[in-house]
Amino acid sequence: MQNYNVFAGAFVDRSGERRKDPDWLARAVQSSDCRFLPVWGDKCLVGGDPLHAVLLERRQVGDLIDDDHLIFLGLFRGHPAFAFALSSEVRAPFGELGEFQDLRFLGTVLPPDEANLVAHARALVLWHATQRFCGLCGSSARPESGGNTRICVNPDCAREVFPRVDPAIIVLVSDGDRCLLGRQAHWPEGRYSTIAGFAEPGESLEDAVRREVYEETNVHVGDVQYHSSQPWPFPSSLMLGFTATASKTDIRLNDGELEDAQWFTRKELRSGFPKLPFRISIARRLVDHWITLEE
Ligand SMILES: [Zn+2]
Repeated sequence: MQNYNVFAGAFVDRSGERRKDPDWLARAVQSSDCRFLPVWGDKCLVGGDPLHAVLLERRQVGDLIDDDHLIFLGLFRGHPAFAFALSSEVRAPFGELGEFQDLRFLGTVLPPDEANLVAHARALVLWHATQRFCGLCGSSARPESGGNTRICVNPDCAREVFPRVDPAIIVLVSDGDRCLLGRQAHWPEGRYSTIAGFAEPGESLEDAVRREVYEETNVHVGDVQYHSSQPWPFPSSLMLGFTATASKTDIRLNDGELEDAQWFTRKELRSGFPKLPFRISIARRLVDHWITLEE
């Protein structure tokens, strides 16, 4: 088992101090050392065998990039790396180098550092697409700090906004011998996963764990322990993984979000039913971790 979650890992030197240095950024994008990651709609460019993320050089991107809208991701393998958006309404370019694919299918395929880089690129490109106007005064907003913030163009407002990250809890609840898994109606047949949901304003993560588990399954949770986290750029979640101990185990589907929820033993989880969460997800890592614990 890998020791971190897919998409996670500090593989990019984010070089936050460079974001505020327009001269350095301008030199970097002109340099032959620079690499560019296209995001076409919400898809990322991959190619080769084995599959890898395609990192373009300046001479390859031609006039497809607009220097004012490049997003500085940081230094990747020593190269300045920038993401840029391509409209999915135009035909996908770079067909000779690879094809644009959904990151949900790439997370466990790409090398971990590339999965981390393209998740970062995808999240920021999609964030910019939803932040064209100032939410306070309604004027246009433009990229700032190498595309790591946006700022209102109205000088009387000049409101700056930062990329959005939505914290969501995901929790493996156990009563010792069994763990609690649920499924939504639209999931593939037989697949179950850990309980998850977004934290709400004014709520601690532990509170969110207890509330979500109760709302979805009626199970009461006592002790809550942090496990690990995973960036989940679909489009902007941060999954915060927990393990928790049930203090009351009767299941009732209170809010109707789940189609079913059940308690499963380790033996059942090894038997092929239920189908376990996909390997890309922190849910699978929580389940795998629990299975390996002493019975
Ligand atoms: Zn404004």
